[in-house]
Amino acid sequence: MDRRKSSLQNRLFRSQQYVVYAAGLTYVLFVLLVTLVDPPVPFSHVLQTPRLGVALVVLVACLAVWAAPQWLRWIYLLAYGGGLLSLIFEVPHLLASESNLLQLYVWQSVNVLISFLILGSRVGMGVSLLTLLTLLGTLSLQGPLRQAQLVDWMTVCLTLAITAYISHLVMVFIEGNLLVHQQDQGKLLAARQDALTMVYGRGAIEEELERAMGYSRRHNTPMSVIVTDIDHFKSVNDRYGHATGDDVLRAVAKRLRRTVGGGGGVVGRWGGEEFIVLLPGVAKPDAQAVAERLRREICDQPLADLNVTASFGVASYRGANDTTDQLFGRADQAMYEAKNAGRNAVR
Ligand code: GH3
Ligand code: MG
Ligand code: MG
Repeated sequence: MDRRKSSLQNRLFRSQQYVVYAAGLTYVLFVLLVTLVDPPVPFSHVLQTPRLGVALVVLVACLAVWAAPQWLRWIYLLAYGGGLLSLIFEVPHLLASESNLLQLYVWQSVNVLISFLILGSRVGMGVSLLTLLTLLGTLSLQGPLRQAQLVDWMTVCLTLAITAYISHLVMVFIEGNLLVHQQDQGKLLAARQDALTMVYGRGAIEEELERAMGYSRRHNTPMSVIVTDIDHFKSVNDRYGHATGDDVLRAVAKRLRRTVGGGGGVVGRWGGEEFIVLLPGVAKPDAQAVAERLRREICDQPLADLNVTASFGVASYRGANDTTDQLFGRADQAMYEAKNAGRNAVR
């Protein structure tokens, strides 16, 4: 059954990557424009205008995220550390040159927003606090500020704090929704699963069959189904007990799933000791080969320490007038022919 990351989580992860590219490349563009308007001063002063260095770090970070998106959080944290260092150098320069703080405020706010989106509400709050403390610490090391400067810098710090608070609230809301979505998906999966064998239950496999048939009808592609029933299963229960019978059912389901799962096959428990395997895109000759492989997989090695065999019936989609009932009926009929032919057979 489908155990991939939920689609919402995937969408959030993709959004995080796009946000890094968009903000990162915009920052690089900003630095290039500023450099054109206001070329860097001689080398000895480069540390006072570390924007070019930060732009390089941001560019490398974007490339790293593109190459290894699974490391997004760590790449962002490293780049963030670089940004924090640059802040320590930039504050004295801004104080000395009486520069407008708008640019600093805008980029730090963007940084705060991205921190929350990528690192989550808790770590996001941690790094935002670290940014504020770094800013306040660096400012306090510069000695007393003039009144006008004090007002400007306090405005920057307060607006960064409120940006962090709002981002935190929004992120807590997003995380809460993601959790509820994940729990719902888990419940949905459990409801569609057969509790004993962990393959699709009857209702779910019927839906999957309808869906696969609908696809074949719309796209005129082949599809096949295999119906299988364990041979003499009643005697397994009678001789070894119901619990051992359950173990055999679990082991058969696992083996069916392991054999066809990789190729896009879908396994469901039709009822009792009868299973159905859907093979979308597979025509009759290949489906018969799959059924033969399944038959051998089951009888070649013991299941739950018992030698078990099963009988298989194969049927394939016949075109627009075919229905799921007819398709299943033909596979079931073929399975009974395999039983009549002596069992442990494919028909
Ligand atoms: P055949 O080769 O003709 O299929 O013979 P069979 O004995 O397998 O067929 P039959 O339909 O007579 O027996 C099916 C048995 O499967 C009867 C029932 O007790 C058992 N069964 C159905 N569901 C379960 C289950 O969930 N657990 C266990 N342990 N047994 C089950
Ligand atoms: Mg049976
Ligand atoms: Mg049966």
